Amino acid sequence: MTTPMVEMRDVHKEFGHNHVLKGIDLTVQAGSVCVMLGPSGSGKSTALRCINQLEEITAGRIYVEGELMGYKEVTKGGHDRLQKLHPKLVAKQRAHIGMVFQRFNLFPHFTALQNVIEGQVQVLGRSKADATARAKQLLDRVGLADRMDHYPAQLSGGQQQRVAIARALAMDPDLMLFDEPTSALDPELVGEVLAVMKDLAADGMTMIVVTHEIGFAREVADQVVFMADGVIVEHGTPTEVIDNPQEQRTQDFLSKVL
Ligand code: ADP
Ligand code: MG
Repeated sequence: MTTPMVEMRDVHKEFGHNHVLKGIDLTVQAGSVCVMLGPSGSGKSTALRCINQLEEITAGRIYVEGELMGYKEVTKGGHDRLQKLHPKLVAKQRAHIGMVFQRFNLFPHFTALQNVIEGQVQVLGRSKADATARAKQLLDRVGLADRMDHYPAQLSGGQQQRVAIARALAMDPDLMLFDEPTSALDPELVGEVLAVMKDLAADGMTMIVVTHEIGFAREVADQVVFMADGVIVEHGTPTEVIDNPQEQRTQDFLSKVL
C-alpha cells in the first residue's frame, strides 16, 4: 500500500459548544479526486480548513503524505502525547497544500501576473525571474495568457478564480483543496473554472473538492463523500453515492440538488 495523500482519523472540531465535526474518517489516495457533498452547515468547509490547519482540531489525527499535521508524537513519563509544532513547522506543512475559496481573495492592487508571482517570492524565496516565468506558464495553462496584466477588477469572476487557481498551483502543492470554487460565479462562468479543474485532475493532481456541481462529481470524482451534521453519512464511487444512495439523508439532499 502506498501512503495516502490525506488520512483523517476520528477528527473532531468544536467551536465552543458547537460540535461541528463529530469523528471524521477519510482517506484520499494520491492522484485521486474526492468530492464532498452536503447541506450548508454540515461541516465541509471546516473539514477542509482543518486539513490545511486554518483551524485547530479538537481531537483526532490528520496525516498528509504520512506526516501528522500540527503536532508531533512524544513519549513523556511512559505516556504518548501530542506536542504542538512550532508555527514555522506548521507553515512548512501548509506550504504543500493549495487552497481555493469561493471568494477569490486576489490582491486588488496587483495584476494577475503579480498575484501569481507574490507567494513564490515571499514564501518559497524564488527569484523574481523564476517566479515570473512560472507565473506566466501557469496563467497560460488556465487560459489567461492574454490577461496577465489585468487587475482583478478588470477580470470576470471566472477569470479571477482561474488566477486564484494559478496562484495556488504556483506553490507546487501536492494537494489542492477547493471550497465551492464556482458558487460565487454567474452560471455561464462556471464551466471555464470546472474545465481547469478537470484538466488538473487529468494531470494527476490530488484534489478534495467541496461543490454542488453533481455533473463534475460524476465525471471527475474517484470518491464521493456525503456529509451531514458533522459526520460522513456515506462515501463511495459517484455511482454508489449519487446514483444509488443508501441513506435517507443523502437521498433527501440529492433530490434537492439534482
Ligand atoms: P459547510 O461548509 O458545510 O456549510 P461549515 O464548516 O462552514 O459548513 O460550518 C459548520 C458549522 O460550524 C456551522 O454551524 C458554523 O456556524 C460553524 N462554524 C464554522 N466556522 C466557525 C467559526 N470560525 N466559529 C464558530 N463557528 C463556526
Ligand atoms: Mg462551506
